[in-house]
Amino acid sequence: HTAVVNGDISLNNISYTYYGSDQPVVKHLSLEIKRGEKLALLGRTGCGKSTLLQLLTRSWDPQQGQILIDGVDLTRWSEPALRNAITVVSQRVDVFNGSLRENLILAKPDASDEQLVAALEKVGLKSLLDDKGLDTWLGDGGRHISGGERRRIGIARALLHDAPILLLDEPTEGLDRRTEQQILDLLLEFAKHKTVLFITHRLVGLDSMDQICLMDEGEIIERGQHQQL
Ligand code: ATP
Ligand code: MG
Repeated sequence: HTAVVNGDISLNNISYTYYGSDQPVVKHLSLEIKRGEKLALLGRTGCGKSTLLQLLTRSWDPQQGQILIDGVDLTRWSEPALRNAITVVSQRVDVFNGSLRENLILAKPDASDEQLVAALEKVGLKSLLDDKGLDTWLGDGGRHISGGERRRIGIARALLHDAPILLLDEPTEGLDRRTEQQILDLLLEFAKHKTVLFITHRLVGLDSMDQICLMDEGEIIERGQHQQL
């Protein structure tokens, strides 16, 4: 039995300081993303965007403030429940030494080969399937993966995992314009009814967002809609 997750996210006055540092990276930050809403988070390098995302997945807990999903404090969520509630495309997609199948199936352990191939097709990676198909080896001693292919493996995993909350950390970094637009269109269609936090430093895709927040030195310094900013 798994409870249905709505996907309401609420950050209340959170602050976070990395261990060993005396400067908070996130400072008294509050934001709310309602079920199905899309929020874009922009801000220059090092301002704390990825840290904020990692607080949502409980890589670390804030020293101050509260993070709620569906009104329940994150610390009260079980690890598997949280994993089922949130899909992440992180800034650095990890591709490990293993088959293409192994690299994808972690996102959806019960996926059939057909589903894995369909996800590869959607992200334009069918070309990775050589004569060994899903047994094609990736990583050391196997097929070399380019930066763009690595990113798209991250997107394929997200499509497979398919949780109600989608966290995207610069998902199209390093892709050419046309591929970027294709991937964003794909993600936005896929996430139509999902709650989305979209970290980006590009302007592509912002017109589809309900809220745009500008972050600087751990704080949200501006928020509004696309037309206003
Ligand atoms: P970018 O746009 O370059 O990805 P960002 O906004 O995602 O930047 P963060 O990765 O959240 O920024 O980093 C914010 C600050 O925290 C930076 O000064 C960074 O050096 C520091 N930082 C990040 N990760 C750690 C860590 N694990 N330990 C200590 N400090 C860290
Ligand atoms: Mg980052």
